[in-house]
Amino acid sequence: MNSIKFLPLPISTSAKYLLTDSRTLAFPSESIFFAIKGTRNDGHQYIQELYLKGVREFVIEYNACSEVFLNLIATFENCKFWQVENAILCLQSLVTSHRNNYDIPVIGITGSNGKTIVKEWLAQLLNQKYIIVKSPKSYNSQIGVPLSVWQINKTHTLGIFEAGISQPGEMQYLEKVIRPTIGIFTNIGTAHDQFFENKITKINEKLLLFKNVEILIYCSDNLEIDRAVKIYMANHNPNCQLLEWSFGSNSKICFKIENGLNAVFLNYTFSGDNFQLQIYHNDLASIENLCHCIVLMKYLNFSWNEVQKGIKLLKPVSMRLELKNGINNSYLIDDSYNNDMAGLKLALDFMLQQKQHKIKIVILSDLLQSSDIEVELYKEIAALIDFNGVTLFIGIGRKMISNADKFPQNALFFATTDTFIDSIKNINFANSIILVKGARTFSFEKIVNALQLKTHETVLEINLDALTHNLNYFKSKIGNSTRIMAMVKAFAYGAGNLEVAHLLQFQKTDYLGVAYTDEGVYLRENGINLPIMVMNPNVSDYEKIIEFSLEPELYSLNKIASFCAFMEGQSGIAKIHVKLDTGMHRLGIQIFELELLINSLLSNPNIIVASIFSHLAASEATQFDHFTLQQIELFNEMANKISTAIGYSPLRHILNTAGISRFSDQKMDMVRLGVGLYGVGNTAEDLTELQTVGTLKTQISQVKLLEKGESVGYGRKGNIDKPTKVATIAIGYADGYDRRFGNGTGNVLINGVLCPTIGNICMDMAMIDVTKANANEGDEVIVFGKNPTIYSLAKQINTIPYEILTNVGERVKRVFFKE
Ligand SMILES: *Cc1c(COP(=O)(O)O)cnc(C)c1O
Repeated sequence: MNSIKFLPLPISTSAKYLLTDSRTLAFPSESIFFAIKGTRNDGHQYIQELYLKGVREFVIEYNACSEVFLNLIATFENCKFWQVENAILCLQSLVTSHRNNYDIPVIGITGSNGKTIVKEWLAQLLNQKYIIVKSPKSYNSQIGVPLSVWQINKTHTLGIFEAGISQPGEMQYLEKVIRPTIGIFTNIGTAHDQFFENKITKINEKLLLFKNVEILIYCSDNLEIDRAVKIYMANHNPNCQLLEWSFGSNSKICFKIENGLNAVFLNYTFSGDNFQLQIYHNDLASIENLCHCIVLMKYLNFSWNEVQKGIKLLKPVSMRLELKNGINNSYLIDDSYNNDMAGLKLALDFMLQQKQHKIKIVILSDLLQSSDIEVELYKEIAALIDFNGVTLFIGIGRKMISNADKFPQNALFFATTDTFIDSIKNINFANSIILVKGARTFSFEKIVNALQLKTHETVLEINLDALTHNLNYFKSKIGNSTRIMAMVKAFAYGAGNLEVAHLLQFQKTDYLGVAYTDEGVYLRENGINLPIMVMNPNVSDYEKIIEFSLEPELYSLNKIASFCAFMEGQSGIAKIHVKLDTGMHRLGIQIFELELLINSLLSNPNIIVASIFSHLAASEATQFDHFTLQQIELFNEMANKISTAIGYSPLRHILNTAGISRFSDQKMDMVRLGVGLYGVGNTAEDLTELQTVGTLKTQISQVKLLEKGESVGYGRKGNIDKPTKVATIAIGYADGYDRRFGNGTGNVLINGVLCPTIGNICMDMAMIDVTKANANEGDEVIVFGKNPTIYSLAKQINTIPYEILTNVGERVKRVFFKE
């Protein structure tokens, strides 16, 4: 047996790409992989796969190196290995020394909210004078920060990086990696409070980022922050210049908001310098973010003229990558807000996850902000396009045209967005997945508009990041040794089964569960190859079950008998799932039927029991915990009998979402995760940790002022007893807005104000009393999401969140996005 020679530290590598997630591999021979063993995932599992794909440099952790693993990697040829205590720390120290090679101003931003917006706005504002490197999206974690800082090269003249922490002890490492010379402290909120002793400890932990900065910008209106900053800086960085600002009058720099007739102004005063800027935001959070930017621009000697010009041109920051339905049965990935190399890689990764269609089209504009030597940059893009198996590449812009020779023969090029739009009718976009990604100035939203399927104004937005977060939350509850079957029945609880299934497949979920055969067939026909259990197969479906490699749940002796009979005529082997009734009394085999069940299984060797399971009737209810434990006991007894009799041990599972949260020690071999994935939980911990996945939105179609004595809607149910402003919104009971929400029972959010319904809900519309809101035609209406929540809607009409989720009508478009 070969033995491995581990290389000494520090790491010396010529790799261009740092890889921490095997799924994002793009240039194997130029990548170094850091295998990270986390609570949910273990990077060491993917080393062989990466080796086979051509990766040759690996950093591995001592605690993940079993003898079997070491023997395996000893067979790898021409590889370099480093063995370390902690791969994340090692990654950080590699990037720290990279950072130390560059002597440029670096802005470090931290705080609870606003980090990403301030970073993106600064990038837009300072772009006039600097060549900027910045964190992609909100890459601000222990891994995200080093990956961001690694991008610095000799052409950059300014860095902007954000740092986020969730626990004590993390910031010191991020400080070393970023080593900011300029600090911005945005503000402090309540996120992650549970990990910190108190607010001051949290502020102090964040302030560690500013240990070595030369200037620090913050808002002094929060007295706690102000005091903490002054004490900390006096003790640890007394030479730092504090540029604190305030909306009041007792600070060095004062801002005052002034509402004009049709415009908002911001008055700035700093030691005799006065200036009035026109601004284009009127919510306090945005203005606060803007003030940080203005103070910094003045510090960097931008003239008022330049500041004003920059603010006028600020574009909204959308980090979102949206997945939409396109024309001719295509899918559209809309990333039309920015275009840089890091963002392109992320978007292509996302495209790779979408297996709905084989034809992949990329529409890309010139990269404006990047500074790399142009030829190299376009070569790299072409290589990425090639690596990701893109079928058709479309480049838009002058730089694209002059670098056309680097792209495949069939690539198309256009000088401007408009000339491309004129040619859309000549290009075949059918049955493809199209990535649209361009720098702001190219106005690619016009392309998105031309290629997207026109939507009914009511949409259900699905946050794919929140879905992943929720999946990981439950994964961390059950650990590595228990599998997850994700329930995607009922159109994935209304969220859209195909897109959700693709995400689950990408996340390497073990099993999917659907209610009916057709749901399983649909997933198979659209690129899903995970094992799928069908809970309610009909006898007439068996043919399809086998054809599409689905696995039936058999819940009665009759079903077992009919499936055995069907299988007698088949050549292969079929996997089935046996459902036991332990007290729910819905579907399932009862204890007195076990003998007959076992006889059938023994006499049909071409049927394999993949799992034995049962369903809890009241896993969410404390008062029935005794009953739940009885169910579990009966289940174990029955499952033991079956396993003993058939001579092998199928997987066992009994927990649903509430079960996972409340009885995690009964996790067995697998759990069946349903509603929790979609953001609905039970315990106090669930409620704080789970993120909102779905937001149901519509629009105001019309607004009217009504006088006392008039009435609203069918049956004249909505009585007007004082002057009232009424808005008609484009959602009704046919879209899932239940009739029971009518006559003031339900409310919707309009411009930040909860407004009650008035009168009966109609089939396609509802009327809302908007007297208290500033409501106009075309305004957005939130039916549910972060506020109001699904829980509150369920309570209003005396039902459960499941029903609110699954009621959202088929005709409501689903829009999927990533932050
Ligand atoms: C729907 C379903 C689940 C998931 O239940 P949740 O409460 O949504 O987690 C689990 N098991 C079976 C048999 C189901 O039908």
